[in-house]
This record gives sequence, structure tokens and C-alpha cells, in this order.
Amino acid sequence: MTYPESPAARSQWIIGQRGQKNTLDPSRPYAWLLEKERDEDGSLVDWLTIFLTNKECPWRCLMCDLWQNTLDETVPDGAIAGQIDFALGQAERECGGLAKLRNVKLYNAGSFFDVKAIPKAEDAAIAKRLANFNRVIVECHPALVGDRCLQFRDRLSGQLEVALGLETVHPEALQKLNKRVTLDQFRAAAELVTQNGMALRAFVLLQPPFIPPEEAVEWANRSVDFSQDCGAKVTSLIPTRTGNGAMDRLATAGQFKEPTLDQLEDAMDYGVGQARGRVFADLWDLGRFSSCETCFPQRKSRLGKQNDTQQVPIRITCPSCR
Ligand code: SF4
Ligand SMILES: [Zn+2]
Repeated sequence: MTYPESPAARSQWIIGQRGQKNTLDPSRPYAWLLEKERDEDGSLVDWLTIFLTNKECPWRCLMCDLWQNTLDETVPDGAIAGQIDFALGQAERECGGLAKLRNVKLYNAGSFFDVKAIPKAEDAAIAKRLANFNRVIVECHPALVGDRCLQFRDRLSGQLEVALGLETVHPEALQKLNKRVTLDQFRAAAELVTQNGMALRAFVLLQPPFIPPEEAVEWANRSVDFSQDCGAKVTSLIPTRTGNGAMDRLATAGQFKEPTLDQLEDAMDYGVGQARGRVFADLWDLGRFSSCETCFPQRKSRLGKQNDTQQVPIRITCPSCR
């Protein structure tokens, strides 16, 4: 199997590997959750994450599976504010009030500042609903961080944090991921964020395709370093997965292998150990990266603690697999 060389051919190939999207209601977020996250001052704070339903992202990144929960068309006027109302109402019921919720992530399976995803006309109504929140995180492709981002910052009473996907600093892999972003473009977007009173968060992939597995941790470490050089206060490490069609195809052709739990632990020990910024491991569906049932629960718990404490505890030794 030959992975196409030109961006246009890649996009076509990636789309060609896809299955069906999920059927979504434009008046509802496709998910929401409550979680705790370590704050800058060391405390564990509550976050509400709302996964907004909106039009699919125009990029076609090789590893992306977010398109599965998107629409083909832009949502009707007022739909995004309505989705936020719905999620706030649900969270209020769950928590017995919204008083303790001061932090919200608005993730939209794409870019918040993509006008086809989140219509700009909704910005005022969205900001109004978030008036009681101290912090608001949105995600965005580096190419779309600009004036609207600054205007949205001004509408909020709390602080705006912008999450950017760095993915990897491996030059060839970054290009082949089809994100159509360079490290210079990432740096420029990060600068716009950090120099204008906003906080920066970055996403880094562990073992994306086109990086030999034995070099994957080293490249993840360098990517974490780069994100922090660009001013990221939080860097999220995401083990790369199959499941979106294209990645499965590469895996079948022997051109991609999911990382192991060991590798994630190595990358976390490095990133957290540097103590330059918070580094979090994405623990979703973590079991798929483990080959040993004996030590998995302890190792998962160690990573969870590492997220919460930003310390590097001693590694788990297992009689079965080590
Ligand atoms: S920019 Fe983000 S949401 Fe869009 S395709 Fe790439 S990874 Fe997916
Ligand atoms: Zn084990």
C-alpha cells in the first residue's frame, strides 16, 4: 500500500477509508462530561467539558476520528448556544447547582473559530452563557487563530485558553499527517495566543505513523519540549489509535502500530519530570495499549495520579510481563 504524496490525494485517500458518521441532533451536544484536572496552583479543579455538535472540520488529518461526530452542514442559528444551555442544565442537575463549576471546555471536533462550525453570530450569546466561568477552553487549528479569537477573548469575563494540536515536531511525519501546518505556523499561532493574554494548551501525539516505534518516545519528548518553548502551560499526550478507517488501513499494511503503555509511561515520566508545564496523559480507552491484565490496573492508576500530582512515582514492576 502506498500512502499518497500530494495533500489533495492524501485527503481523498483518507476520506475513502472512512465508515459512516454517527447520526447527531444539531440541537444537542454529542456528549458532555465532568472531570477534575490539576490546576496551575496544584489544586484539583472541576471542569465541565461540552462536546458541541457542528459541521465537520475542513481539514483531513490522517489520525483524526473526530469527523465521526460531526454534521455535513452548518448548524441553524442559535443551535450552539442552545447546546450549551442543554449541557449546563444537565450539569446543574448532576452537581446540584453550578456554583462549583467555574471551568468549561468547549470542544467541537474541529476549530471553534471556523465560521462554518461555530457561526460567528453566536459568539455574543455563547459568551453570555459563560459569564460565570473563570476559564473557558476552546480548540482550534493554528491557521484559524486570529481576530475572532481576540474578539471572543474580549467578550468573556473569564480567561480564554486556546488548545492547539501540535501533533509532532517530526518534520516528515507532521507533513504526512496532512494537517497542513508547519512548526513556524504553530509557533506564530501560539505567540498570538500567549502575547494577548490567553493561555495555551497543546496536544501531542505519541507514536503517530511515519515515526519508527523505537524513536516514538524521543519524538514525543521533543514535541512536549517544543510546545512548552511556545508557551504551553498544559500539554496533553495522546497515544495514537486506529479506529478511523485510515489508521486501520495503515496498520493492516504494517505502516502503523499503536504505542504501548510502557511508551506512554516513558513519555509521561519525561514530560512531567521536566516540570516546565503540566503534562497530562490521555487515559481514554487506555486498556488497548496494555498487553498485561496483571499490572494494568496499577499502571493506569499510576498514570492517573501522575496527571493529578505532576510527580513521577516509581514504576510498577510486574511479575507477569517484566
Ligand atoms: S484539524 Fe483537528 S479536527 Fe480537523 S481534521 Fe485535523 S485533527 Fe481533526
Ligand atoms: Zn504486567
